[in-house]
Amino acid sequence: MPRPWIPSPTLKTSFALHGAAALGTLAAPALWPWALGAVVANHALLTVAWLLPRSTLLGANLTRLPTPAAARNEIALSFDDGPDPEVTPQVLDLLDAAGVKANFFCIGHRARQNPVLCREIVARGHRVENHGDSHSKAFAFFGPGRMHADIARAQETLANITGSAPRFFRATAGLRNPFLDPVLAALDLHWPAGRVARSTRAKPTPRLCWPA
Ligand SMILES: [Zn+2]
Repeated sequence: MPRPWIPSPTLKTSFALHGAAALGTLAAPALWPWALGAVVANHALLTVAWLLPRSTLLGANLTRLPTPAAARNEIALSFDDGPDPEVTPQVLDLLDAAGVKANFFCIGHRARQNPVLCREIVARGHRVENHGDSHSKAFAFFGPGRMHADIARAQETLANITGSAPRFFRATAGLRNPFLDPVLAALDLHWPAGRVARSTRAKPTPRLCWPA
């Protein structure tokens, strides 16, 4: 079910700035260097936001575990890029031995190649989440339409294989394109921070994993 998309203040400001720069240049062409400078500065800010895994400048970002989970000193453990017929079974055995649960951000085309393994991840108590379909190195440069198609295809694949639709999406290399947030809202997916949450970093000895 799509949810309404509310642009972050940074994106709203960026839209307004681009509009003002265009209108200002039309109204007073001599001011174009100022307009160009403002747009370049804005893009520099967006690039920084793009590279920061904990940033909320481009949209909501799950950077903390739910309070009860943090109070229990839990962490959210995740693995990207599977399912892999060689590595994933070993990871599953290690997790079983340690008695912990994790989130597997799976790639759609690999899930189609290894559907049984994908189902085994779930059967052993873990969650399968969305890591895109193509895992293209150029994903961060996709436009909204191509981005939507890639994520939606993985979402459909993973939901069909496991019987449960992923709730979270992580992009290739964790890079967050400014066009991504409305796509995630349309697919009812959420963006999780790609590193250890602050609430966990404050705890010296996390002991459990939190299935998101
Ligand atoms: Zn990856």
